[in-house]
Amino acid sequence: MPDCIFCQIIDKKIPAKIVFEDKTILAFYDIKPQAKQHILIIPKKHIEFADLEKEDADLPAAIFKTARLIAVKLKFAANGYRLVVNNGPWAGQAVNHIHWHLLGGNHLGPVA
Ligand code: 5GP
Ligand code: ZN
Repeated sequence: MPDCIFCQIIDKKIPAKIVFEDKTILAFYDIKPQAKQHILIIPKKHIEFADLEKEDADLPAAIFKTARLIAVKLKFAANGYRLVVNNGPWAGQAVNHIHWHLLGGNHLGPVA
């Protein structure tokens, strides 16, 4: 999707600080961190939230596994972390390419 910021990061047209990459998933630091560690985990394919009901239904399991791997690798797994997905305007979603926010490294406040 040419006008998608995250697709441009995947294509390395926009730089990002990458912390994990495999065949289907990319993870990189959020440009505007909301925690000491704030990483975005995304599928390399441009998919949106509703697509999870179709052929991409197994993606969330892979993302959860990747989130734990990253938290262990970056040494903030022990104290816990948060995994968040925003869906739609009332949740404040700004980028349609589905993404999980992995937040940790400090004590987090309530979810909302
Ligand atoms: P949303 O509000 O859609 O759930 O989250 C989008 C996230 O993407 C925001 O936390 C925002 O800071 C991050 N973001 C937007 N543009 C860029 C960018 O060009 N690079 C990086 N690394 N993060 C971005
Ligand atoms: Zn995209």
